[in-house]
Amino acid sequence: MEDLVSLLKKLPGIGRRSAERLAFHILTAPSDEALALADAIRHLKTTARYCSRCFNFAEDDLCYICTDAKRDSSKICVVEQPKDVILLESSGLYNGLYHVLMGCIDPLSGVGPDAIKMDNLLERAADDGVKEIILATNPTAAGDGTALYIAEQLAKVSIKITRLARGLASGGSLEYASRNTLADAFGGRRDMR
Ligand SMILES: [Zn+2]
Repeated sequence: MEDLVSLLKKLPGIGRRSAERLAFHILTAPSDEALALADAIRHLKTTARYCSRCFNFAEDDLCYICTDAKRDSSKICVVEQPKDVILLESSGLYNGLYHVLMGCIDPLSGVGPDAIKMDNLLERAADDGVKEIILATNPTAAGDGTALYIAEQLAKVSIKITRLARGLASGGSLEYASRNTLADAFGGRRDMR
């Protein structure tokens, strides 16, 4: 029991009291339910990897979004982390493709342009079918700086480059935006040139 509590305590947002409550719940839950949780964690950790095209979470070489023929492949939405894809997908507002940077440029923390998946994005943007790149990095100083850097890097490619509108609270992250705020941000996205 103590092992489980100390492991649960490592999860984000879980303190000692919550960890104890969860551990007690698991202890008293039906066996198949508790073991299904253990199996789901094992399955996720042994099969999950990153999509070789967009760096979203994937179970195969390409993620389920990249392989979906019904998605609008003329749009690429650029986000910082795979969890941003999950968030935007749950909002149901967007039907294009994604590109996950796996971070952002943050000079104050010594993180330079090499840390983001920029080369892959340049390659994808050069594809004839791509008409718009939507920069959806977080509305923080680092996220804004990263968006600016990407817009500069894409200067030679003649496609539309937009940034999500400022309905999003400055300094916040996509994670805490409501669906309405995200809808406004998508609807009011503005050209970066
Ligand atoms: Zn993908």
